[in-house]
Amino acid sequence: MVEQTLPECEASIHEQECERIGSTKDHFTPRSIARLLDWSIPQMNDERNIQKLSEACHKKKDEITPLFIERIERLQNGGSVTLWEHHNDLLMLQKRTRWKEKKAS
Ligand SMILES: [Zn+2]
Repeated sequence: MVEQTLPECEASIHEQECERIGSTKDHFTPRSIARLLDWSIPQMNDERNIQKLSEACHKKKDEITPLFIERIERLQNGGSVTLWEHHNDLLMLQKRTRWKEKKAS
């Protein structure tokens, strides 16, 4: 009975260690990135930006955050991201996570 109440891990691609239980709360767009993009606190904490992830999937997702921050800061400082970098980022992302699709209501 208890298991039925546990939320499922919402990652699109699960880590091998994932037990499919969304035991942690994840900000889909991390707060560190949201701040760079001038999101308000309510925007950051909007339910559409929150997902439940297992610890394994959450940890894996967090690993790519520094890369995004680097790209965003570079762009905000007038730099550029090369097509090659962009291409590699997308390939890496496809392996690790997928953009959250809008939930059907
Ligand atoms: Zn998972």
